[in-house]
Amino acid sequence: MTEQTIFLNARLADGALVDLTVTDGRFSAITPAAGRTQATTTATIDLGGQLVVPGFVEGHIHLDTSFYGDAWRPHIPCTDGFDVRERVAFQAQNLAAAAPMAERAKSQLELCIGNGSLAMRSHVMVDGSVGLKHLETILAVREAYRDLIDIQLVAFPQSGILSSPGTPELLDEALRLGCDLIGGLDPASFDRDVWGHLDVVFGLAHKHGVGVDIHLHDGGSLGLFQIEEIAHRTKALGMAGHVAVSHAYALGDIPADALNKAGAMLATAGVSIMTNAPGNHAFPPVAALRQAGVTVFGGSDNIRDSWWPYGDGDMLSRANLIGYRSGFYEDRELAAAFDVVTYAGAKALRLEGYGIAVGAAADFVAMRAEHVPEAVVAVPRERTVHRRGRLVAQDGKMAG
Ligand SMILES: [Zn+2]
Repeated sequence: MTEQTIFLNARLADGALVDLTVTDGRFSAITPAAGRTQATTTATIDLGGQLVVPGFVEGHIHLDTSFYGDAWRPHIPCTDGFDVRERVAFQAQNLAAAAPMAERAKSQLELCIGNGSLAMRSHVMVDGSVGLKHLETILAVREAYRDLIDIQLVAFPQSGILSSPGTPELLDEALRLGCDLIGGLDPASFDRDVWGHLDVVFGLAHKHGVGVDIHLHDGGSLGLFQIEEIAHRTKALGMAGHVAVSHAYALGDIPADALNKAGAMLATAGVSIMTNAPGNHAFPPVAALRQAGVTVFGGSDNIRDSWWPYGDGDMLSRANLIGYRSGFYEDRELAAAFDVVTYAGAKALRLEGYGIAVGAAADFVAMRAEHVPEAVVAVPRERTVHRRGRLVAQDGKMAG
């Protein structure tokens, strides 16, 4: 039986006041608001002029390693400056004492859905230290939440690929089990073998026909060198639009002429860049990269885990942070920050039927804001989140 709901008096990003008809989970008509405010024969919901935007895209998160919903874990500082291996050891120590992973992952998912994220890309540890244990748990959680949120999983070699015995085989198996992408981690500084690391990553991507999303924290020319290598392989393998570099801090600390070249190269190769606008690092210049035609998308990354205590799972406040750290003031700039957590995210994740348009999935957020720029600066907490036209969360809490 056909299920239809009409959402009356929705304010779109362009200012238009419309009625949105949702039929079987998709927008079937968008018409100028007829001024109705009461029930007709079909189910009607009056949005009263609230701003309606598509569900947010959480482009980078770690569902397996957060302690959100569990006991507070005080941050342990590294003994002699930041050291990824030491942090991985702290993480193993913390995880051994944590609540069951499925419970923590569900808490984090509900935090994200409650704030309006309806599509997500999560990295999941797959390496010699944990094998496929994390993945098996997160695959089951994904299945349990499939009606509420679309989740892509990245097989993430947190302990390196070449320096963690058995990891290439485990990554291969992870992709067979249902991971959507293959990850990587600082090929130069972690495995100290850029080609060896990328051979495994792109080899498996090619073998399984999946995308790539690599954590790259290496800065300066070392980071830039790896970005060039990734872009080169993306182009050579015809993988435009299927490859992302997460963090890519190097793009934030290279000279302007090098950045111009890197932007053109990334745009041509079709490599997208993920940023969470970290507080204590140079990070990719969002405006310059967008100007060059690069898809820049956003993510929370770590939320209350062994790496840092921050993060609220709200991609609207992430847009605020991205805008704040980027020095965005004009409306068009604030709208760009919003695009990073919505349409650009959908493009990077290759989501189908995204947006407020006839034929698109009726995944949307309604909130009290005059327009997108105001939403980005005000970050209204009161929101309703709709998945396929059904209310799934209100004011941060799951409905029902
Ligand atoms: Zn990450």
